[in-house]
Amino acid sequence: MDRPSAFGADNLGSNPSEAILQMNKLILTITLIIVSALFTLLITRATSPREIDDISPEIPCEQELMEKSDILWVIPKFNNIPITENTEWCNKILSLNKTLGLHGVRHTFEEFKINRNEEYLNEGISIFEECFGEKPTMFKPPQLKISKNNKELIRNNNLKLKVITNQVFHKVYHCQDTGRFSNKFINRF
Ligand SMILES: [Zn+2]
Repeated sequence: MDRPSAFGADNLGSNPSEAILQMNKLILTITLIIVSALFTLLITRATSPREIDDISPEIPCEQELMEKSDILWVIPKFNNIPITENTEWCNKILSLNKTLGLHGVRHTFEEFKINRNEEYLNEGISIFEECFGEKPTMFKPPQLKISKNNKELIRNNNLKLKVITNQVFHKVYHCQDTGRFSNKFINRF
């Protein structure tokens, strides 16, 4: 007896060429998802405000890099020298007319992975305010590392915390080209 109707149902998926076809479809779908995610990331990075980390009178920084950035991340007391000691520098930064954010206090290695108290953070906020005439509204920890307690401290001081997601979705330069990716790479991607 021939049972033509059973052929398709019983053999579904067990035909080797059918299995290969299914696998190819899956690979194609995954590839498409990855490509479109990368494309979206590139577009987002290209259209989001540009940032530059490690702004301090103690750290030489190309004028061109600062000018093409929208957000400058300032270290208020790098090398233990408050930026307020250089009012000329404060005025120069202000004249660029950029959004300014607080980038640690002294920018020691993983500075905010160590629990800091109110007084420690406040010193940075006060120096920033004295230099630029207004309090910071955003905070980015050095090396993007921050402890749970410090997150709380930042929140309690009404500072918006910017960490890894911010760094992924924005082009972020570094004054001395000390970022994980070079400024040249950031320019392209
Ligand atoms: Zn930094």
